[in-house]
Amino acid sequence: MFTNNLGYPRIGSNRELKKACENYWAGNISQQELLHAAQQLRLHNLYLQKEAGINLIPSNDFSLYDQVLDLSLTLGVIPARYEVLGDKSQTDLYFAMARGYQKDGLDITAMEMTKWFDTNYHYIVPEFYKNQEFSFFSKKIVDEFIEAKANGILTKPVIIGPVSYLLLGKEKEAGFDRIDLIKNLLPVYIDIITELVDKGVEWIQFDEPFLALHLSEKDKTALIYVYTEIKMAFPDLKVLIATYFEGLGENSQLAVSLPVCALHIDLVRNPEQLQQLLDIVPDGLSLSLGIVDGRNIWKNDFTASLKIIDTAVKKLGKNRIIIAPSCSLLHAPCDSDLETNDATLTPQIRDWLAFAKQKINEVVVLKQLANSENITNAANSLKSNIAAIASKKTSGLIHNTTVKERVASITEGDSKRNNPFSIRKNIQAKILNLPLYPTTTIGSFPQTAGVRGWRAQLKKEAITLSQYEALVKKETEATIRFQESIGLDVLVHGEFERNDMVEYFGEQLEGFAFTKNGWVQSYGSRCVKPPIIYGDVYRTQAMTVKWSAYAQSLTNKLVKGMLTGPVTILQWSFVRNDQPRKDTCTQIALAIRDEVADLEAAGIKIIQIDEPAIREGLPLRKEQWREYLNWAVTAFRISASGVDDATQVHTHMCYSEFNDIIEDIANMDADVITIECSRSQMELLDAFADFKYPNQIGPGVYDIHSPRVPNKEEMVILMNKAALVIPKEQLWVNPDCGLKTRHWPETKQALAEMVAAAKELRLKE
Ligand code: GLN
Ligand code: ZN
Repeated sequence: MFTNNLGYPRIGSNRELKKACENYWAGNISQQELLHAAQQLRLHNLYLQKEAGINLIPSNDFSLYDQVLDLSLTLGVIPARYEVLGDKSQTDLYFAMARGYQKDGLDITAMEMTKWFDTNYHYIVPEFYKNQEFSFFSKKIVDEFIEAKANGILTKPVIIGPVSYLLLGKEKEAGFDRIDLIKNLLPVYIDIITELVDKGVEWIQFDEPFLALHLSEKDKTALIYVYTEIKMAFPDLKVLIATYFEGLGENSQLAVSLPVCALHIDLVRNPEQLQQLLDIVPDGLSLSLGIVDGRNIWKNDFTASLKIIDTAVKKLGKNRIIIAPSCSLLHAPCDSDLETNDATLTPQIRDWLAFAKQKINEVVVLKQLANSENITNAANSLKSNIAAIASKKTSGLIHNTTVKERVASITEGDSKRNNPFSIRKNIQAKILNLPLYPTTTIGSFPQTAGVRGWRAQLKKEAITLSQYEALVKKETEATIRFQESIGLDVLVHGEFERNDMVEYFGEQLEGFAFTKNGWVQSYGSRCVKPPIIYGDVYRTQAMTVKWSAYAQSLTNKLVKGMLTGPVTILQWSFVRNDQPRKDTCTQIALAIRDEVADLEAAGIKIIQIDEPAIREGLPLRKEQWREYLNWAVTAFRISASGVDDATQVHTHMCYSEFNDIIEDIANMDADVITIECSRSQMELLDAFADFKYPNQIGPGVYDIHSPRVPNKEEMVILMNKAALVIPKEQLWVNPDCGLKTRHWPETKQALAEMVAAAKELRLKE
């Protein structure tokens, strides 16, 4: 029996890689210093895995920015616009592709970035052209194998398989299908493998995550072709194909018939597939059981895992079983031992956690237990694991009867407003008395260094809570005055009191804990530190009313209350693994519902519930979309439906394509939805137009991601374009998203132009 790891987090437990990269980009350290820091991290991770007892230790899982971009550079898939950088080092070329290049009079755009399957990791999308040529351009994969070997570790190089690599990319011109490039691509893979084998590689891992998704006939043919050719060229090489994030489903037969040594399957996401696969694995194929959750932070339940391993062993024998995490540990934070006691992260909760380093150990202990090795130690580990799992099952920290009862007693009426929008809109129109093309913003105003500094000082106890609150109030008041001065119709308080739109709520809700170092790479040097939802979620007191009511007290204009929706809070947290996501989401929805009611009672007439993450929660397999959308939309509706018809509920979503879920978006029944639209020149609005979306809608008229100040004319043009497809009575005027990353000067100018645009639009009526 072997142990296997698919990939280790590369950012470092203190985000060393982030710091090194950002210092290099800022010109503070040399390239040599950067590469040295990177090497230290690689070696640290290798030794850690070796000492733990992992047999198949990955190499080439390290990346300075992104593993897909690494592969594009390896294969020479470098878009022509970077040719002018020909004299630069490979590292600088690589960063130019990742981040764009604005120097020496050049202005080259970065490559596009998109989400890695259903994770919060973003990869750089390969750009393919007709007759795309490939070459063995960067030797990173070979260099990192040699480096490890020189340090006494014979690794298993990891590379994205050729079929998945092509599927991850995008055709940048018409007239070809990228999967047809497989014929050009395979020879370069053969070159790479040849060199690796020459240097002593015994095992190699090809990631083919698309095997767990729907495949076209062409994709399937390509998979068979590629792995048959590789087998013919390297009959003695041990090839492992890794799949993750879903079950193999209808591709099971195809997957087990590929001529390779081992197949890795994700048994956390899809435990049911084991039985199905055990019935069809041919002799000679080993299974790598992805049994330790690589996507979450909880300790593995050894008792349950051992049962699963036992089932597999009975069928295949120990020699054909490999124990592994479910997917690359890239998606887990580094080391839970670094967490110290904290108000929310109590010793008991810490005892339930396992980050990457701990997961590696779990894999090894599971193998020892299943294989009767190192018996005393393994038995001790099992004992403490059983205790931790038992305490989590029954802990009063987790289970709250009142919350469970409230969820159980939810009725259909709880997710319905009193009357349909057609009636609500008239009631609201009378009370709110807004002009045609009402103007508003999405919520946050610039979070300046000053504002963030106050929060840092409060944390360090350099200022008191009341001093902090006085500062935030002053900033809020100034922001209200500014909005009044330019004539915005619906004001916001500015969200200055919030560190982050999820963390702010998590900190005030029961059932949430926060880590100090639980960072996970999101893209490049960007990391996120998701809250941990460990227990039943409930609200003990109002979370935002104080700030909204204060802002409203300053002005006769309408001030919109600002909340984050249940699906987004769920989506951007580590979630419980002891109940379905749906149940956790419903609990959050009830807490938000209470907040909505409190805002209404405090005299707030418009309440926005942001749901930017609704779309990213969609399951990878389409056949599961319906179930998800049903509970996600219901959760939003539960949060939004406890108010009077006169209260106007807004929601906001950013960078979403809406076509395939427009019916569900409409079903959320928000009185007003604001969406990002400007960069698509209002094209995103077409889905709403085609659907005849009945409620009101604010298509973003300017891009908040750039400091560029738009002028009135261009916003008038965009709104006129919108008015061609959506009746003007339904339209609002607003930016694409919150303004927290912007600076004040451009914010002030841009919003003044935006209000002027709305005024001009009204004049024409
Ligand atoms: N209200 C939030 C803000 O303005 C919305 C942010 C978001 O959509 N991601 O910052
Ligand atoms: Zn947004």
